[in-house]
Amino acid sequence: MRILLVEDDAGIRVPLAASLVRSGFEVTAVDSGAAALEAVEGVDLVLLDLGLPDIDGSEVCRRIRRDGAVPVIVISARGDEIDRVTMLDSGADDYVVKPFGTREIVARIRAVARRSVPSDDGSEIVEIGALRLDNRSHVVTLSGQPVELTPKEFGVLAFLAADPGRVRTREEILSEVWDEHWWGPTKTLDVHVASLRRKLGAPGWIITVRGVGFRLDDVGDGP
Ligand code: CA
Repeated sequence: MRILLVEDDAGIRVPLAASLVRSGFEVTAVDSGAAALEAVEGVDLVLLDLGLPDIDGSEVCRRIRRDGAVPVIVISARGDEIDRVTMLDSGADDYVVKPFGTREIVARIRAVARRSVPSDDGSEIVEIGALRLDNRSHVVTLSGQPVELTPKEFGVLAFLAADPGRVRTREEILSEVWDEHWWGPTKTLDVHVASLRRKLGAPGWIITVRGVGFRLDDVGDGP
């Protein structure tokens, strides 16, 4: 995944770029709005500081969004409410407030990247074998037949389906679908997984990885 980091403060730009590279991203780092607009082509996501020396960050965001579908996460100064609203209005997908940690920014990048894989018709569809999830409308079909899921069931399935075959820990699933500060019983998760298996009609698709969590197996052509 290629990330364009736009930040004029070298004290943030240099260590942040290094952290992102360590986290497995390919990073292009620039220090101005003009350089950002030149470098944006072909990147998968933009991390955009608002306070740039040449072009205002919201204007940079607007131009990036006008020219293509690349997601933008704004890096904003603490407590800057007006900027926050302006940025979301001008097409940013998310924002982080300085100061932030690498874990936080990486989580935001992954969340935004997951959300914004548009299909040809502009919707956000995940298809695995006979299973089809629309992340925008939350409609799930199996071999063309609708499957009625609760919002949490959808969340669990969508999270697993975003990376089929990859084991997700209970903590990852709970923090993604419930709340990042979920400290309740993880039995809640088992109840939802059991219900999902029942509704999908194929208990084997969501594999329990004992002591770790769950993964979505190859769904194949249907139950
Ligand atoms: Ca700045």
